[in-house]
Amino acid sequence: MKRLVTIVVLLILAVSLSFSKEGMWVPTLLEKYNIEEMQQMGFKLSAKDVYDVNYSSLKDAIVIFGRGCTGEVISDEGLLITNHHCGYRAIQSHSTLEHDYLSNGFWAMNKEEELPNPSLSVRFLEYMEDVTSKVLEGTEEVEGDKKQKKIDKNIKQVVEEVTIEGKLEASVKPLFYGNQYFLYVYKRYTDVRLVGAPPSSIGKFGGDTDNWMWPRHTGDFSLFRIYADKNNEPAPYSEDNVPFKPKKFLPISLKGVQPEDFTMVFGYPGSTTEYLPSNAIDIIMNQRDPDRIKIRGRKIEVMKKDMEDDPLVKIKYAAKYSGVTNAWKKWQGEIKGLSRMKAIEKKKAFEGEFKQWAIENNTWDSTYQQVFDDFNGLYATYGRVVKASDYYNEIFWRGPDIFQMASQVNGYLKKVKKENKLPAGNSLEDLKKELDKLYKDFNRPTDEKIMAVLLPMLVNDLEHKFLPSSTKEKIVKLGSQKLVEKVYRKSALCNKDKLYEILESGKVQKLEKDPMVNFYREFRTHYYIYIDPVLALIEETINSSMKTYVAGLVEMKKGQPFYPDANGTLRISYGKVEGYQPKDGVRYKHKTTLEGVIAKDDPEDYYFDVPEKLKKLHQEKDYGIYSEGNTIPVCFVASNHTSGGNSGSPVLNADGHLIGLNFDRCWEGTMSDVMYDPEVCRNISLDIRYALFIIDKFAGAGYLLGEMKVIK
Ligand code: ASP
Repeated sequence: MKRLVTIVVLLILAVSLSFSKEGMWVPTLLEKYNIEEMQQMGFKLSAKDVYDVNYSSLKDAIVIFGRGCTGEVISDEGLLITNHHCGYRAIQSHSTLEHDYLSNGFWAMNKEEELPNPSLSVRFLEYMEDVTSKVLEGTEEVEGDKKQKKIDKNIKQVVEEVTIEGKLEASVKPLFYGNQYFLYVYKRYTDVRLVGAPPSSIGKFGGDTDNWMWPRHTGDFSLFRIYADKNNEPAPYSEDNVPFKPKKFLPISLKGVQPEDFTMVFGYPGSTTEYLPSNAIDIIMNQRDPDRIKIRGRKIEVMKKDMEDDPLVKIKYAAKYSGVTNAWKKWQGEIKGLSRMKAIEKKKAFEGEFKQWAIENNTWDSTYQQVFDDFNGLYATYGRVVKASDYYNEIFWRGPDIFQMASQVNGYLKKVKKENKLPAGNSLEDLKKELDKLYKDFNRPTDEKIMAVLLPMLVNDLEHKFLPSSTKEKIVKLGSQKLVEKVYRKSALCNKDKLYEILESGKVQKLEKDPMVNFYREFRTHYYIYIDPVLALIEETINSSMKTYVAGLVEMKKGQPFYPDANGTLRISYGKVEGYQPKDGVRYKHKTTLEGVIAKDDPEDYYFDVPEKLKKLHQEKDYGIYSEGNTIPVCFVASNHTSGGNSGSPVLNADGHLIGLNFDRCWEGTMSDVMYDPEVCRNISLDIRYALFIIDKFAGAGYLLGEMKVIK
């Protein structure tokens, strides 16, 4: 325990002396470590204005939106703004050929017209708390497996204590690889309705071509509204629900941004790994990113062609396609950035310094030599197993939809077997609900083609021990095309009506022999015997070495920036509005305008086809109160350290007013999840004035502005 206390004290010291725009900081630690620097940079509020448990603070306006974005409340009637790409699945789910909201946008002209989204929820953070001592209580005396079990037990207890009444949700997450633990307590609202979304030709303007790029001209926003019961408490969708009254909503500033202005991003960055050793960087750059780019590249080719050929497929696959291309493009930028930064060499040089420091402090022989020996041994094995895991992930678990259907059906069959009868209660209804979601956007020919191009990659690229031998033989013997054709043709899963008929008849044993279910089972079994547990064990061992290493880093780096990796919890990044130099001889400005949107107009290219109405507003300069100079501001860049999950996060100015929505990072800085370069890492935000202009002038939904607090 003494060592832990020392580490935590050192963490505090380390952070307090930092000066850097790099970092995703913990809101409860702002007062101690960051607020002084933030105020020196221009911030006018106090740490308590940002996060406070007893009084309303900025944190009360921020939500986790859906499964992995951020959103913020902008009116006292629960109106919420997030990115278009965060609302995309919801917008898509309401779209049909007749009502193509993806292409044409959607605007509720009053509350009755808002659209409910059964699969969407938002979570407010009630409070967070350092629970390190509770989690590590009684773990000093035990080792290995038993230690982890004790930690898990303690965590369970901490969570149970705060969720007793069942109204709140809680989770405990490790920071610094388990050197610290924090408890997060949330309230979840499940009635969240779609209020407005611009057409994709604004909300997704530039598409994949411009994604991860600056200069950018995307109006990446959508609007939702949170509903609650009469007591303002969470309730499932009901016509009786009323607009949620937030503890806090964000005022919106029309003042705009100037270079050097202070900016702060408050949201939920998903995952970063800034402290990895050189061995891990090597695997990311030279194996994992290239593997996943290659596999996704094949999926993208198939989807793209089918989407171009059939407008209905285009709607059905829109969200899936964006999901696949987003990371595919990011990984390409990440490899480039890490190579440019000479990331492996940098880490190795740093590891040399670390060794020197440890020798001087007499801790090399006793502690850290073992850590580095472990890294060398473990990462070699990790590389081989994670390759298999990446292939299974991309090809099966995130591959053809039919595998997800097979997974659902298999789960149901397992229940039947276990209970030796048809499961009672809602099991069948629940199964059908899940299947309905999958069938809604299923196009069998596309799915089949995806499977056919992906299967050979498994056989060609993976060590054979990672494949079920019987399936491998079949693939080699029949050829993957023929095999896939046969399995799809014979499977009941390809025909929703037929499958439901079997399920409803109760004669589900028929499905035990279904070729797709069995195909799925062979891979699943192999994965859960030969890949998943092995990988989990290696990762656990690596993490335990990382825990020691990171504790050492903190000790060594006293006085320098040190922040925990992002882990999907609430963080603050701060920096300033600034352009950057992407390459020799080129300097990018900090902002873009409507002139750039018009200049990119290309009716031949779906991604750049500017809507006529927007062109007309531009021609007539009908800009209302949202203009700057003679045009409308569209996006800006700033030096806030952000990651996936920060999509939709508010960008706040020195007064804590909303000036933008974070939605992306620039190409040269996409490696910032692994290594940050202050010279070129920039977050891209939508200027809030563009959103308001679109709502008011383009969509004619200006009534929504009436409920916002707009500061001129
Ligand atoms: N555009 C990104 C995303 O969708 C946001 C980011 O990673 O900076 O995840």
